[in-house]
Amino acid sequence: MAKMVSDFVIPILGGYECEVGLDALDDASVIGDLVLKSDSHAVQPIFFPGGDIGRLAVAGTVNDIAVLGAQPLALACGLILEEGLAFEDLRRVLTSVRSACEEADVSVITGDTKVVEKECLGGLVINMSGIGRGDEALEHNIKIARQYRKTLDTKWILDKNLREGDKIILSGTVGDHGVAIMSTQENIGLRNEVRSDVKPLNHMIGKILKVGGIVSMKDPTRGGLANSLNEWREKSHVGIQIQESHIPIRNDVRAACEILGIDPLEVGNEGKVIIGVVKEQAEEVLEELRSTDEGREAEIIGEATGEFNLVTMKTIVGGKRIITTPIGDPVPRIC
Ligand code: MG
Repeated sequence: MAKMVSDFVIPILGGYECEVGLDALDDASVIGDLVLKSDSHAVQPIFFPGGDIGRLAVAGTVNDIAVLGAQPLALACGLILEEGLAFEDLRRVLTSVRSACEEADVSVITGDTKVVEKECLGGLVINMSGIGRGDEALEHNIKIARQYRKTLDTKWILDKNLREGDKIILSGTVGDHGVAIMSTQENIGLRNEVRSDVKPLNHMIGKILKVGGIVSMKDPTRGGLANSLNEWREKSHVGIQIQESHIPIRNDVRAACEILGIDPLEVGNEGKVIIGVVKEQAEEVLEELRSTDEGREAEIIGEATGEFNLVTMKTIVGGKRIITTPIGDPVPRIC
């Protein structure tokens, strides 16, 4: 998918000069003072443990706007419905969109509905677009970061801002969403049902911006932690070193991954962020995160290094493993 985007989409649609454009392939774009994001959701099944396609669509777009340091202003919802979708299911999904919007303090203010023949959509697909704007919390955050890094030349939190010495914080357990979807798709009865972590995180992010010093932030969705860390590595030209013992993973998620033969670091999440923060502010940001419900299991999992341009993990048994960009998706139609 990444290669398809860089080989086909960017050469044709890219090239427009704005603060953060399509070519940056960041979580969202910036034009003037506005952050803009569009995200399509084709998850299967549309209802899964811990959430549904409606909640996922709101959280996905809100989180991509929030990780640049912005607060969402409004959403646009495009529905593509398949003939035969039960009205009751549509009602359930829209009610879920509404309640996730209330959680994030944002509203759907425009949209579009299309109906297509019964093919292979699996019920419905949702495109959720959104705009956001930076507020005083983002300004404060960048001001604090600049106290320690005079060379920081942007007012946004971007994938390319990570530098040697920055600490990397993970806001909670990884793998929950992907395992919840996969166990439903494959109809694997796990003893304890794993629930998706899908959640809008803009309020949690707003709190840590008030502490300040955050330079990069990302929601490790498709491709999981492994993919997100490698995107940072590539765009920031740093090495990244993480410690396996510091990565929070639920025991049932770890067990399910072992049974299914997948790596929890490559599985998508929908309610977590990784945060790159100047080292002087790392403990304070961690403490603030842990005071929130969504971030109570947060950990400092590693740091950016100047050594070599790789993501490496010190394993629990004392070895070293290179974490590469995942090839293909272990779980199809996860988001
Ligand atoms: Mg993202």
